Amino acid sequence: MADDEKKAPSNFIRDIINSDLESGKRTVIQTRFPPEPNGYLHIGHAKSICLNFGIAKDYNGKCNLRFDDTNPSKEEQEYIDSIQNDVSWLGFDWGGEAFYASDYFDKMYEWALILIKAGKAYVDDLSAEEIREYRGTLTKPGKPSPYRDRSVEDNLDLFVRMKEGEFEDGSKVLRAKIDMESGNLNMRDPVMYRIVRAEHPRQGNKWCIYPMYDWAHGLEDSIEGVTHSICTLEFEDHRPLYNWFLDQLPELFHPQQIEFARLNLNYTIMSKRKLLQLVKEDHVNGWDDPRMPTISGMRRRGYTPESLRDFCSRIGVSKVDSTVDIALLEHCLREDLNKRALRRMAVLKPLKLIIDNYPEGEVEWFDGENNPEDPDGGTRKIPFSRELWIEQDDFREEAPNKKYFRLAPGKEIRLKHAYYVKCVDYKKDPETGEILEVHCTYDPASKGGWTDDGRKVKGTSHWVSAEHAVKSEVRLYSHLFNNEAPGAATGNFLDDIDPDSLEILENCWVEPALVEEKAFTSVQFLRQGYFCVDPDSTADKPVFNKTVGLRDTWAKIQRKN
Ligand code: ATP
Ligand code: MG
Repeated sequence: MADDEKKAPSNFIRDIINSDLESGKRTVIQTRFPPEPNGYLHIGHAKSICLNFGIAKDYNGKCNLRFDDTNPSKEEQEYIDSIQNDVSWLGFDWGGEAFYASDYFDKMYEWALILIKAGKAYVDDLSAEEIREYRGTLTKPGKPSPYRDRSVEDNLDLFVRMKEGEFEDGSKVLRAKIDMESGNLNMRDPVMYRIVRAEHPRQGNKWCIYPMYDWAHGLEDSIEGVTHSICTLEFEDHRPLYNWFLDQLPELFHPQQIEFARLNLNYTIMSKRKLLQLVKEDHVNGWDDPRMPTISGMRRRGYTPESLRDFCSRIGVSKVDSTVDIALLEHCLREDLNKRALRRMAVLKPLKLIIDNYPEGEVEWFDGENNPEDPDGGTRKIPFSRELWIEQDDFREEAPNKKYFRLAPGKEIRLKHAYYVKCVDYKKDPETGEILEVHCTYDPASKGGWTDDGRKVKGTSHWVSAEHAVKSEVRLYSHLFNNEAPGAATGNFLDDIDPDSLEILENCWVEPALVEEKAFTSVQFLRQGYFCVDPDSTADKPVFNKTVGLRDTWAKIQRKN
């Protein structure tokens, strides 16, 4: 990561860490990022990644990447690979091997035996449904299971046999024996193990009992020596349980759980379950569809790691749930791309422009700067010839008003980097009314796009030489959902999918310098916005994704306020 990056702003978690270091409670700092490998990472995870890895970096500590692979029926190697790829792409390093919760299954099992021997856990034969019923509600205390007072010997015997595979899936569970009348539902004898016969990506068929999150998570943190276990707010009510389990095993290291508010973005859903549904039901073209809020989708859309880290730093960390405006995310992206994107010309909806007084067969090569923001960015060569492509929108049969500075009969414009041209004629399909071609004359004295005669030419158009341009596909995107809070009105987020969120333009023309660009390279098409090279590109036909337009709605909102 670049050294010139701003130091992360302080927040309540850093305050806790500072005071732990000051008081001597901690001497080293360790965090972890613990995804469940049941889907691809999304922008919400990026917030957690930046927070956890950012703290480790700033305090010279360590942040583990740990796969919380305790639920084999939903987890896959594909997800594990994509998660590692995304974390490194974001610019973070977990220092060696990733950790896997499943590597601790043996230890967890031993510790469960300790709890049983201490009379703190029991095997229950109630069904999942019955357990829910017995648990009670916020206003109604729970009642004890009829199996709650089994002897330690019986519990040990049954739990070992659960592990040995003697019982059917779902027929028994191991529960902690805490307090069926607790005001906190999580403390009413939570389930620690259930029986599930599913092949585990790493453990194969070794286990048929799998630990529940609340039992497993603190143990995982403890084994790794995590000092500050940072999670989202919905786990606040689970903290007493996190602590209770660790308190029953006093010889273990005791991490501290701290909760923060998860990231919500308007126009965006962030539940992995719903993202999986979008993929499985073909509402999008895979996890890395550029409309997806996944890190892989955003990368393909043209987001850079720098812009995502900047966004995560600006939104900060708090204890209060809120929804962030997606315009801020796009603002961070534009700021970064403005510095790094190559400037190029591309015509998305082409109209032929013929320069009647330009010699047939002649070609001139103009220099165009790669990036006006970067003095060392260099230039590229742009070919110019008698027949060009310009944007359909840059011509009208009649100028609509005095502020119209584009091409119309009798009007003169500047062709960027090249010449002034004046419209002298145009051809139109008499049946459809479609404009077929525009005829102009050019002024040889305006070479380079200016003259010294004081002539005012306000409009500047982008263009490409028809003979040299490369046919391309351009994919335009809008938000996947056309409602700020997808699903809020009908209860079904699928109802708010915008059927027009992807528009494919197949007859675009781009300047030849673009053909050599590698997948994921960001460019600014003059006057159109930022685009990036899609990996679907071939030698014959480059494909570009529109990343974001040029107009910064966030900056505008800020100016107004
Ligand atoms: P989802 O609800 O989308 O399925 P999850 O929380 O179940 O997400 P995990 O794989 O368990 O997904 O998440 C790994 C880490 O990322 C957790 O520590 C979790 O708190 C954090 N995380 C998940 N979503 C967000 C979010 N929207 N904002 C901040 N952190 C998040
Ligand atoms: Mg989770």
